[in-house]
Amino acid sequence: MKYALIADIHANLEALEVVLEDAQKNNCTHYVCLGDVVGYNPNPRECMKIVRDMEMPCIMGNHDEYCAGDIDLSGFNPHASHAITWTRDQLIDEERDWLKRLKYLRMIANFTIVHATLDAPKRWGYVMSKLDAAASFTYQNTGVCFFGHTHVPLAFVRDSSSVTGGKYDMLTVEKGKKYFINVGSVGQPRDGDPRAAYVIYDLKAGTIELRRLEYDFEKTQAKILEAGLPERLANRLALGK
Ligand code: ZN
Repeated sequence: MKYALIADIHANLEALEVVLEDAQKNNCTHYVCLGDVVGYNPNPRECMKIVRDMEMPCIMGNHDEYCAGDIDLSGFNPHASHAITWTRDQLIDEERDWLKRLKYLRMIANFTIVHATLDAPKRWGYVMSKLDAAASFTYQNTGVCFFGHTHVPLAFVRDSSSVTGGKYDMLTVEKGKKYFINVGSVGQPRDGDPRAAYVIYDLKAGTIELRRLEYDFEKTQAKILEAGLPERLANRLALGK
């Protein structure tokens, strides 16, 4: 069984299509979505339709939550709140209901998925450091847990004595260790690399591979501007931040 783990699609259809094509070429048999299907980019309905049609297990991201409900956005930065309001207006009731029903945490096969953190999944904290990861590890009951939210692919590993963490391309799961893996973002990478990111987890081989893929971000940028979404949201796709 080969799982494709995709996170933070953020309504970027061009990136999502390239990722799914690559996963198919690599013989992925299962697909899992770690939340933030919508928000920021111009194709929330199309991306949601793909996730739903493929019947991939999906969990709640903060943008899914914001776009599903009527949460007050006055504390948000203006670009984010503009995109959230715009997305809310695009979605029909049935789509908002689907988003509302997403769970914050799920077990898939022998691993866990969560959007932000395991210690407080509904609080949308950011795991960027070993200290942040250590708090999640306390609540991790499976050997492997995948997460998203920061849009920065990082791997944290806990053995009997310590937590280590950093960038990764490929790692092999070892017994007696725990893994808290950020799979990066499909639709809005923020690690300085504009290429779409996702992970292939080969359960049999025990390997976790980060994949990076070029996609036509200029097309996405044009659609962002055409939709009247903030220009900054278009610019950042070229920079990967
Ligand atoms: Zn996100």
